[in-house]
Amino acid sequence: MRDAAREYRRRTPQSEKLFQRAKKVMPGGVCHNIRYFPPYPFYIKEAKGSRIRDVDGNEYIDLWMAHYEAILGHSPEVIVNELSGILSKGTHWGLVNEYQVELAELICQVVPSAEKVRFCCSGTEATMYAVRLARAFPGRNVMLKVAGGWHGANTDLSIAIHSPYEQKESAGLFPEVSQYTKFISFNDIEGSLKIMRQNAENLAAVLIEPVPGQGYIPAELGYLKVLREETRKLEAVLIFDEVIDGFRLSLGGAQEKYGIIPDLTTLGKILGGGMHIGAVVGKEDILDLCNPTKKDPKWVLTGGGTFSANPLSMAAGIKMITYLRENADLIYPRLNRNGERIRREIEKVFNESGVLARCSGDGSLFGLNFPFKEGVKLRSPRDMEELTDLERRNNELKLR
Ligand code: PLP
Repeated sequence: MRDAAREYRRRTPQSEKLFQRAKKVMPGGVCHNIRYFPPYPFYIKEAKGSRIRDVDGNEYIDLWMAHYEAILGHSPEVIVNELSGILSKGTHWGLVNEYQVELAELICQVVPSAEKVRFCCSGTEATMYAVRLARAFPGRNVMLKVAGGWHGANTDLSIAIHSPYEQKESAGLFPEVSQYTKFISFNDIEGSLKIMRQNAENLAAVLIEPVPGQGYIPAELGYLKVLREETRKLEAVLIFDEVIDGFRLSLGGAQEKYGIIPDLTTLGKILGGGMHIGAVVGKEDILDLCNPTKKDPKWVLTGGGTFSANPLSMAAGIKMITYLRENADLIYPRLNRNGERIRREIEKVFNESGVLARCSGDGSLFGLNFPFKEGVKLRSPRDMEELTDLERRNNELKLR
């Protein structure tokens, strides 16, 4: 490992220089925590297809794909051509445009839970608005999220992200956050039902990512079914965070693949075709709480933001979703086949070198875990954090 670190430094002198400059003007040198890794990150100059190239001329096969946003690889022609054409007409008009109508129509056609759409600029904003809508609709306060679930740095959901889950994730949060946002254990039917029922009177919503980005351990179908049935019974809202899963596990996302339809869904990443985007979609009567032309006493302030539904994100999104829809019969089977293959091959390489490794995932999503013991079944982000050697994983993935 030490040799690898030396080699990394030798090959990335320009990146090291940039990082020294970056540290002077940005806390820790970065603007997204995950983009820092020791001794310093390499700086990207360009990306095309499956490859990225850094400022020192090194080329990498990219498995990260821009936070899983780039489902067609980097700079796909279909998107680049569209964006180049629009740039001459302007970058942002700050008024409504036809592109947003078309993209919202497309979403309603392909995402099963989508009756209405509200665009914003990021997945974090989408989950923020979803929480607000979900609390206003039944007029209750308690949100249940999954231990280990990441939904952006949303204040209402900045608890129970990392094991041991009880501690605060950040300074600057009100203590009441943990009074009203509580957590359940993923794939634990009995435990989750118990907590839902204990909070029944004040339960606003259950929020779950069907294949959590923390470990990519998929939800068991029986678990999703129970959450769907019980939220209905308790008249609480079921939210799927499909910021990663949407348009990836299938064209209609995890909800289409697993056949469980939530009341609200948050979307982002792939939807923007490489541009910034977020969206809350779902049942008309819930989404209508943010309708500015109706003054409901439960009216929900949903800003959207200066750049919401900007023409570049909307046009790129239309191209992306249209392309995925027109080529779905080719794209999704291929992605799934490749995902299965990479999971199998990575496990094989580690296990043949005497290292116990398990690749989790579904479709093209995969996570690499190193269980402490043979025979351990990983069924949740919690298992991934508590039953596997995270330090080893970080060492394998990030050069020290
Ligand atoms: N929800 C999930 C499941 C995510 O993975 C992320 C980001 O990684 C977010 C929400 C936040 O999205 P954004 O980074 O666009 O704010």
